[in-house]
Amino acid sequence: MITVWVLGDQLNASLAAMAAARPDTHRVLLVESAAKVTSQRWHIQRAHFVLASMRRFAAELRVAGFEVDERRSASLATGLAEHRAAYHPQQVIATEPASRDGLALLHRLGVETVRTNQFLCHPDEFAAWAAGRTSFTMEHFSRWQRRRLGLLMDGVEPAGGRWNFDAENRRPPPKDASGRWPSPPTDALDVIDRDVIERLRPHTWGAEPDGTWATTRQGALARLEHFVERVLPHFGPHEDAMTTASWHLAHSLLSPYLNIGLLLPDEVCEAAEVAYRAGRVPLASAEGFIRQLIGWREYVWGLYWLWGPEYATSNALGAHRPLPPVFTGAATTQMRCVSHTLQSLHDRAWVHHIQRLMVLGNLALLAGVDPLAMTRWMWASFVDGAEWVMLPNVVGMALHADGGKMATKPYAAGGAYIDRMSDYCKGCRFDRKQRVGDDACPFTTLYWDFVARHGDRFERNPRMVQQVRAARRLDDLPAVRERAVEVLRRLDNGNL
Ligand code: SF4
Repeated sequence: MITVWVLGDQLNASLAAMAAARPDTHRVLLVESAAKVTSQRWHIQRAHFVLASMRRFAAELRVAGFEVDERRSASLATGLAEHRAAYHPQQVIATEPASRDGLALLHRLGVETVRTNQFLCHPDEFAAWAAGRTSFTMEHFSRWQRRRLGLLMDGVEPAGGRWNFDAENRRPPPKDASGRWPSPPTDALDVIDRDVIERLRPHTWGAEPDGTWATTRQGALARLEHFVERVLPHFGPHEDAMTTASWHLAHSLLSPYLNIGLLLPDEVCEAAEVAYRAGRVPLASAEGFIRQLIGWREYVWGLYWLWGPEYATSNALGAHRPLPPVFTGAATTQMRCVSHTLQSLHDRAWVHHIQRLMVLGNLALLAGVDPLAMTRWMWASFVDGAEWVMLPNVVGMALHADGGKMATKPYAAGGAYIDRMSDYCKGCRFDRKQRVGDDACPFTTLYWDFVARHGDRFERNPRMVQQVRAARRLDDLPAVRERAVEVLRRLDNGNL
């Protein structure tokens, strides 16, 4: 018998190694690694999502006739050794894993890997696309993907004659935000959930699972149908808005399922395109959503592999501050934007991309938090976290630690941006317009301090030079920088 080793983020019978497996010739191995469970301080909903999904996938494979060896072992390597000792498989194969360490481990253990089909663009294809280019513009990649995949295309032209409708998608939250976007279905917890939660409770943080995140393919397909039929028609205009009235807005909430294989990107894109062609979804919504999948998501995946392991230790801005205690739950904060975002993260292991980038990431950027510490925290805290997701998004996009390889300017902003895109500032104890004094908005103070601190670097950047000049013209810059020292001291002490 051949063993197919299925990793915790490969839970789909159509994935490469599983796709060719048959019950009479293949046995399936799944390993729950104790070392992995305790390797980071995971959000319990993140860890539960993976473990409960693995157990249910094993049950589905048994129903399909497979013999499944489900192991709880000290480590992945130990699990494989125990499996080999028990079953003596003639060969062990696995779909290529989604991390560099995972790939190295499988090769070290003598596991034969099968080319992955979990993404629409394999790292080899991305490398071929990137070869010879001096800049890797996401928009160019996205159009290349659309053409070759034939998504939202009318012949050789994009549907509707336009590639991108993003200009219409930067609106602040609407006044009538409450109840505007339908919430996703939820599932009742069962004995599998309770067993996994008991196991995880001592090692994790955050609110325990409440059925928000599906842990079966059937549940993930139900979330996909809900999104396409009820939410996608509203997708687009308010994707960058932040509001206390809705935790999800019109976001798909499908990234967790895509990232562990419960859904595959081609079926998700197809569902969106079918709804558009049938007239149930506007083109701008379908285009924006499909671009997130075949553009941004696959672009980040490709860059993770293209840039190699040294990218993880990039620290171009010399940022060495430890994670602020408010991020780890060791402190609270009076900053309403940060407090609301962290509460939402605690409750569901998920906040959307602008809360990640412009609240949490922005604070870490302005404060000079160590990029690798921030990456690991986000990887462990989000239900859709993975190394390949977080490294480019945190090191490159949020913290500009790669010196501008990924984003041509840092995503730094003061309180004015957060006020424009959210309802957080009304009712906040701080004043987003003030940059000095006890009531000054910490984002506003730290923004000007950040621009001044890195002025010599950013004055050579055409997209930043205006801000550098503006910072240098501030009459109260010495007072701002003095206030920034106090703000950072409070952030470190957990009393901001
Ligand atoms: Fe956040 Fe500043 Fe607005 Fe308060 S005033 S919510 S700290 S941006």
